[in-house]
Amino acid sequence: MYIRPQSIKLDKKRQILVIDWNDGNSVEYSWDGLRDACPCAQCRQEHSSNNVNTVDMVFVLNPVKSFTLDSVELAGNYALKLYWSDGHNTGIYGWEYLRTLSLPNS
Ligand SMILES: [Zn+2]
Repeated sequence: MYIRPQSIKLDKKRQILVIDWNDGNSVEYSWDGLRDACPCAQCRQEHSSNNVNTVDMVFVLNPVKSFTLDSVELAGNYALKLYWSDGHNTGIYGWEYLRTLSLPNS
């Protein structure tokens, strides 16, 4: 069976994204977690440069950022595009990737 969402809800009050999958699973994604997992090249680079800094014993204390998700949009029929309040919208979250993210909580 090809896994895909049946419905996608943006719950702004609870700051989560709720996806009902066609296999019966309903998964809640926290906005911070989604932003953390942003698959775009820019964010991946930020994550890897953080690792380099710890090797050099330079500790960069990033302030805890809280991201607001403005809206979501379908990218074709294979992925979700997220629009963040800071203008970031280059992350394309494929269904399979979103399913991977949901594994630790299930
Ligand atoms: Zn990104």
